[in-house]
Amino acid sequence: MRGLSAKVASIAPSATIEISNAAKRMAQEGIDVISLSIGEPDFATPQHITDACIDALRRGETHYAPSQGIPELTAAIAEKISTENGFAASPDQVIVTCGAKDAIYEAMEAVVNPRDEVLILDPAWVSYEPCVQLAGARPRHHALDPGSFQLDDSLLEAVTPDTRMIVINSPSNPSGAVLDERSLRLVADICTDHDIIALSDEIYEKLVYGREHISLAGIGDMAERTITVNGFSKAYAMTGWRLGYAVAPDQVIRQMNKVQQHTISHPATFAMHGAVAALTGDQGCVEEMRREFERRRDYVIAALHGMGYVTAPAEGAFYAYVKVDSDDVEIARRWLREVHVAVTPGSAFGTPGWERLSYATSMVNLQEAMHRISML
Ligand code: PLP
Repeated sequence: MRGLSAKVASIAPSATIEISNAAKRMAQEGIDVISLSIGEPDFATPQHITDACIDALRRGETHYAPSQGIPELTAAIAEKISTENGFAASPDQVIVTCGAKDAIYEAMEAVVNPRDEVLILDPAWVSYEPCVQLAGARPRHHALDPGSFQLDDSLLEAVTPDTRMIVINSPSNPSGAVLDERSLRLVADICTDHDIIALSDEIYEKLVYGREHISLAGIGDMAERTITVNGFSKAYAMTGWRLGYAVAPDQVIRQMNKVQQHTISHPATFAMHGAVAALTGDQGCVEEMRREFERRRDYVIAALHGMGYVTAPAEGAFYAYVKVDSDDVEIARRWLREVHVAVTPGSAFGTPGWERLSYATSMVNLQEAMHRISML
């Protein structure tokens, strides 16, 4: 066989795979492994959402739909954005995608050209860099302040004439930090001054603890140059439904829609009816899950601090980011080998010297995991 795509070959496999594969192998061997490496809510999708999808299937909503998404859903998303996120959006400025991940990939394809640079803030979620590379552009990394996980003026030093896009993610996976208004204003000013498009990944928007989530597009006239990405996976426990969306200026959405039309067409029609129920139904289920995550966060962070660990500000999402004093990959291997607790090394997110612990698992598991870690 002749050589396969050099572009894809150059993309590193996920650094999280080694530990999670080892954890799976151990579990198959009957070892009682506690996985704190999971990035999805452990709750069932709320019933009224599932019911709406089943009703749609029974009604025969099993055919192609408009590629941007069913009108009921693009309208519900535009309404949600306009009432909750501090900027106005029309249904034409919305595209429904196969998860937020697909929205991020399509956004990169729609915006960047070869040689363009996309600025990624470390620690960063694992798929931003590969999406930049798949779109043929160049990732450039800039570290957030390792104490506050906020931005300062040094961000400007990372901007070059080739910078086309900045990716921000608040609340953050992996750090759990929430960007404050000062950091967001800094991003807004830099984007405006240097004609840069921002991609704001707000997938954990609903999971904040004592902090306010602020949408970048709601600051000044940033709606004109921001692609806001969100989805249903984390807020509504709908990871397997593969439903996300982007809200952006019309010309960006039109470009993304071309990518979508010629690749996935659109997410499953009946699933989109479930998403309408998620957005238009009672939001009590979201708050219930948020409260439970907050309870677990309080427990895990207190337990880790009690053991003397330093953590990033755990203000959102469902991750504790824990500072360690030697090689993070080696420590993750050791925790798995010695106490059967699986965590994700910070190297996977561009910041060696940290471990990411997900608290999207039961309180019983968390208590046992903290007990095991305290034995080390
Ligand atoms: N963005 C971040 C920061 C995430 O953590 C994830 C999932 O882990 C995604 C995007 C993708 O979510 P989705 O399931 O909607 O594709």
